[in-house]
Amino acid sequence: MSVQREQLEADVLIVGAGPAGLACALHLANLIKKHNESGGKPALSTENIYVLEKGREIGAHQLSGAIMNPRALAELVPDFEKSAPLDTPVTDDAAFFFTKNSAYRFPITPPPFKNRGNYVVSLSKLVKWLGGLVEKSGVNLFTQFGGAQLIYEGEGIAGVITEDKGVDKNGKPKDNYTPGYELRAKVTVLAEGPRGSLTKDLVARKELDNINPQTYGIGIKELWDVQPGRIQPGFVAHTLGWPVDFSTYGGGWIYALRDNRLSIGLVIALEYQNPQFDPHEAFQKYKTHPFLKRILDGGKLVRYGAKTIPYGGWYAMPRTYVDGGLIIGDSASFLDSQRLKGIHMAMKSGMLAAETIFEGLLAGDTSSKTLAAFPKKVEQSWIKKELWSVRNFHQSFQHGFLGGMFHAGLQFISGGRGLIDPMRSHPGYKAYHKINGAPAPERFKGDGKLTFDRLTDVYHSGTRHEEDQPCHLVVADLNVCSTKCVTEYGNPCQYFCPAAVYEMAAEKGELRLKINASNCVHCKTCDIADPYQIINWVVPEGGGGPNYEGM
Ligand SMILES: Cc1cc2nc3c(=O)[nH]c(=O)nc-3n(C[C@H](O)[C@H](O)[C@H](O)COP(=O)(O)OP(=O)(O)OC[C@H]3O[C@@H](n4cnc5c(N)ncnc54)[C@H](O)[C@@H]3O)c2cc1C
Repeated sequence: MSVQREQLEADVLIVGAGPAGLACALHLANLIKKHNESGGKPALSTENIYVLEKGREIGAHQLSGAIMNPRALAELVPDFEKSAPLDTPVTDDAAFFFTKNSAYRFPITPPPFKNRGNYVVSLSKLVKWLGGLVEKSGVNLFTQFGGAQLIYEGEGIAGVITEDKGVDKNGKPKDNYTPGYELRAKVTVLAEGPRGSLTKDLVARKELDNINPQTYGIGIKELWDVQPGRIQPGFVAHTLGWPVDFSTYGGGWIYALRDNRLSIGLVIALEYQNPQFDPHEAFQKYKTHPFLKRILDGGKLVRYGAKTIPYGGWYAMPRTYVDGGLIIGDSASFLDSQRLKGIHMAMKSGMLAAETIFEGLLAGDTSSKTLAAFPKKVEQSWIKKELWSVRNFHQSFQHGFLGGMFHAGLQFISGGRGLIDPMRSHPGYKAYHKINGAPAPERFKGDGKLTFDRLTDVYHSGTRHEEDQPCHLVVADLNVCSTKCVTEYGNPCQYFCPAAVYEMAAEKGELRLKINASNCVHCKTCDIADPYQIINWVVPEGGGGPNYEGM
């Protein structure tokens, strides 16, 4: 069926209103304003900048720890401390090693875990505030719109087609059918966060990958209100050890916000060997550690969420420019995986992209020749310095924790070089061992007070989708799930998905995959961790997904 789409033209189209996309929009608007005020020619308009966000409102899909290094925000909004929702400055930082029953505090907090000068924030609130500044600057911000397809033209990209609204689960138009818009722009900026669906397509099609593939972790988080006096606001701790074993890369965090609110979570690299390992269950067990139980006892779960994190760093950064297109933020690997910090880098990458675009608009040239200035600006900025010093960090841990610590130590004293530079890595799903007939593990139920099953947690994520729409988790061949995957890997999707989306259900004497797409929290783990790489996450109808209010 040929579809008549309304066409809109912009100078710049930014896909994704996270820290990267919004910093790009605001910095570009500021540059344009200054240029116009000084009588610069040609005059440009901030109204010709569009930002698309799939969440039902700005900040709804933002999930992070979060400790924010304010460096980029101070450059973007110099008086940010006056109005930004910063919650609390970090007052004490600690690192612990956990065994099952004990917690050992490191006598000196290792440098990656030092956080004085940083802020504990709700990223969702911070992004909402930033979105307000962007709107005030005259930029057009569209929530509940997902970029569904890139418009490829010549050697590059020329915009995005947004998702069709009002299509039923069989692909038929409903009464409220509205075809997606064709949004054309001189520059399209992909700021989709980790494993962006458009970015994935662009990187594969144009072969933009760097020497290493991107690798990821999954972060599972709960927000709690705890009893008064249990923890000081501004106290932040990172933990190593139990329940994460030495063959797995991961650790936990506890960040105390104001008003007895606590952010607690566990990150696990999506490159573990046991395909029946369950990161959600590991996080639930984490909370039963005596150190954490003491803090959480008598408290209340407020919110839940999960999201992936790009760990690959400098050597996994794809080429970030094509004709008419740039990639920024997590989508382009701007994250320091040693410190688990990406907010400041996402913002700074957005600002450098804005400067590149501004020059391109003035010169009337937004081809890759002009946009190639973006990676050069990154090279000359503090982003390069920070990422370069940890360029081999995460790869060191792909062969286990102890070897990783050895390499990381050598890298620390040699400015990131270590014994092997560049250290290569492999996609995480290649680490799975076959199950060799191992029975399916029993599913974790939780006690309903301190620990929870997936569905209870999903309820606390505020996730909602239109039920009658095509499934946005596209499995290329369902037979693989019922035949090969059952015997080879025991259907790991049932375990790695933190939102109970995937279930193997008995049907006519065989196990068939059932997809509960409306539970999806948009973490993208399935797209990353499926052993056959046959799950493709595509944008659902705009406005669907979690509601990470206050997260
Ligand atoms: C569990 C966890 C803990 C973390 N802790 C910290 C921390 O303590 N400190 C720190 O600095 N960093 C932390 N990070 C990393 C930090 O959150 C990211 O680096 C940062 O949010 C990246 O910003 P971004 O704008 O690139 O992407 P995102 O924040 O992911 O924003 C991308 C936005 O784009 C939207 N989007 C995606 N695709 C589309 C599409 N096709 N169409 C329309 N909209 C789309 C999404 O809905 C989202 O709102 C953590 C991350 C996680 C997951």
